[in-house]
Amino acid sequence: MAGFLVDPADVQDDTLVLRREEAHHLARVRRHRQGEVVEVVDGAGNWYQVRIEHLDRDQVRAQILDRQQDRGESPVRLTLAAALVKGQRFDFLVEKATELGVAELVPLLTERGVVRPGSEHKTARWEHLARAALKQCGRSRLPLILAPAVLGEVVRSRVEEGQQVLLAVPTGGEELRRCLAVGQAERLILAVGPEGGFSPGEVAVARRLGAQIVSWGNRVLRSETAGMVLAALVLHEAEHTLGKGEQLEP
Ligand code: SAH
Repeated sequence: MAGFLVDPADVQDDTLVLRREEAHHLARVRRHRQGEVVEVVDGAGNWYQVRIEHLDRDQVRAQILDRQQDRGESPVRLTLAAALVKGQRFDFLVEKATELGVAELVPLLTERGVVRPGSEHKTARWEHLARAALKQCGRSRLPLILAPAVLGEVVRSRVEEGQQVLLAVPTGGEELRRCLAVGQAERLILAVGPEGGFSPGEVAVARRLGAQIVSWGNRVLRSETAGMVLAALVLHEAEHTLGKGEQLEP
């Protein structure tokens, strides 16, 4: 069941208020009525089951019946560092990464991809897409969409933080599954290249800084397909390795 998104500031004790678009969506598009029970998330990890108490033109007040922390979230915090590619492909990836449960997205600046974020850097639009995807997929936390960053800097800082860093190349890398089984990290980051791939220099630097170079099967995937598929595999594998019941400290 697709839910609604509430501003955390609009949650008080046992009541919450949906405003503007969310109120409009609930009342006019989905045609809910007073007394009905719906699901609401705040994008910061809180899930609520609520009963609609009062509907106005641009405001809906609801009573909280039940609440859960981090419902629908993965026990692993996966950061997807995806090469910034032109056009709508990155939009697609933002939507799918949100559905899959990616915790953070880093638009990656790479030698063969977009090097300087100009009009391609559209955080507001990406956040809008993530919000829509969040409501649809039943998770409770919005992915953080970080500022575009250069590959080497990202690898360096994440290794320093003790995260497992995976860099995907079409051929010649270690088997992805094996790296995950060995690592069992609770925080990991996966870097995916642009259409032209990472340059040999980028791969060498990442390896030297401590990244594990990984590959998936025998076929070369498009950048956004790779982001989606590899994120799904990492989350699947890691959730099973860590066990679904375990939740991380936020
Ligand atoms: N011609 C490029 C292809 C790049 S595909 C090259 O030879 O590198 C775009 C990105 O998707 C790659 O940089 C890599 O990160 C990822 N990717 C594509 N297929 C993959 C595979 N089979 N395994 C792992 N990563 C892959």
